[in-house]
Amino acid sequence: MMRELLAFAVILVTALGKETFDRHQVLRLVPKNDTHLSLIKELHNTMEYELDIWRGVTDVGSPVDIRVPVHKIKLVKRYLETKNIKFSTMIKDLQVLLDKEQKVMESAAARVPDPKHTDNFDFSRYHTLSEVNHSFQDMLVAENPNLVSKIVIGRSYEGRSLNVLKFSTGGTNRPAIWIDTGIHSREWVTQASGTWFAKKIVTGFRGDRALTAILNQMDIFLEIVTNPDGYAYTHTTNRLWRKTRKPNPGSRCVGVDPNRNWNAGFGGPGSSSDPCSQTYSGPRPESESEVKSIVNFVNSHNIKAFISIHSYSQLLMYPYGYTRTPIKDQTELDNLARQAITDLASLYGTRYRFGSIIKTIYQASGGSIDWAYNKGIKYSYTFELRDTGRYGFILPANQIIPTAEETWLALMTIMDYTLKNPY
Ligand SMILES: [Zn+2]
Repeated sequence: MMRELLAFAVILVTALGKETFDRHQVLRLVPKNDTHLSLIKELHNTMEYELDIWRGVTDVGSPVDIRVPVHKIKLVKRYLETKNIKFSTMIKDLQVLLDKEQKVMESAAARVPDPKHTDNFDFSRYHTLSEVNHSFQDMLVAENPNLVSKIVIGRSYEGRSLNVLKFSTGGTNRPAIWIDTGIHSREWVTQASGTWFAKKIVTGFRGDRALTAILNQMDIFLEIVTNPDGYAYTHTTNRLWRKTRKPNPGSRCVGVDPNRNWNAGFGGPGSSSDPCSQTYSGPRPESESEVKSIVNFVNSHNIKAFISIHSYSQLLMYPYGYTRTPIKDQTELDNLARQAITDLASLYGTRYRFGSIIKTIYQASGGSIDWAYNKGIKYSYTFELRDTGRYGFILPANQIIPTAEETWLALMTIMDYTLKNPY
């Protein structure tokens, strides 16, 4: 009986347990010519390789990062060698990094298991969804009733509330800044930074002159966990989950890329119509409630700047992603981006590149900031935070605070400019 029970327990743990990535590797490929570019794209699209694109194809000389499952490593390396594409191993055994990350999370949790005030919230580690919601967001609202409120803008596919923090000193329908983090759930440094930003706004109000000036005239809306189903799933089941968690009828694959689901060049190049792809656009624009809820919210508010935060690669970008046609405010947004990354670098010397999405990273259709810009929100930007690939999505927790601090400087530059250059 004992033995049967034990066997059952093992099966249960396996069934409910987390996906492991033992000896999965992250390879960096460097395309040297156009032939390499098309070969790498071909590699991406060959489903039998089971690749997970961490950093996509841009242009000649720009690195491409791919996660390769252990049983495909030989095959993929042979492909690269026969095609003469140079590669290096960025992460030799992904599971080793994941185990370390988990250990740091657990040991830190033991130190401050249940902070009674957001002053004691540990910003230097990654948190579960319930910690972000309850141990942070709800407490922050309770502590600062005159400045912060929580708006539920909708429900995720699995029924979780889509929470937006509103920072406001009063007025009605004031011009506002929109910031979202975590629309891609595995980009953990973004939700962690969003949490830090929220606390920074509260502590900086009335102390920081530039921030106070912004809050005296504008509201700030911050959605920290923009893809809560995905985020919960990264904790319980698959740390590398990127998409939403809505099933796709007729497919065994789950989820839509919520940053290919917006009504801007929907379904075009740089998005996929294959439900198994990491960049699946979904069946139609705004099919995901996580996206549709933001669309409804933005449409009924006076948003003047729309900032969407991702990781990784260290980039600050403006529209477009779906077309090479430059936006009409290209010069202005380019200058502001240059200033923002200069300010960002002033703290720790972290270097960012900047430009339009299509020229800086790759063609991507159905993205949020293209939609925002097309609907008339001039100051539309997207960040890719740290790092440049050493750890990729598994950025060590000791980099959360420095990442958030430096990013905040760039955000302040954009928000301050938005205040001083109304349109
Ligand atoms: Zn992303």
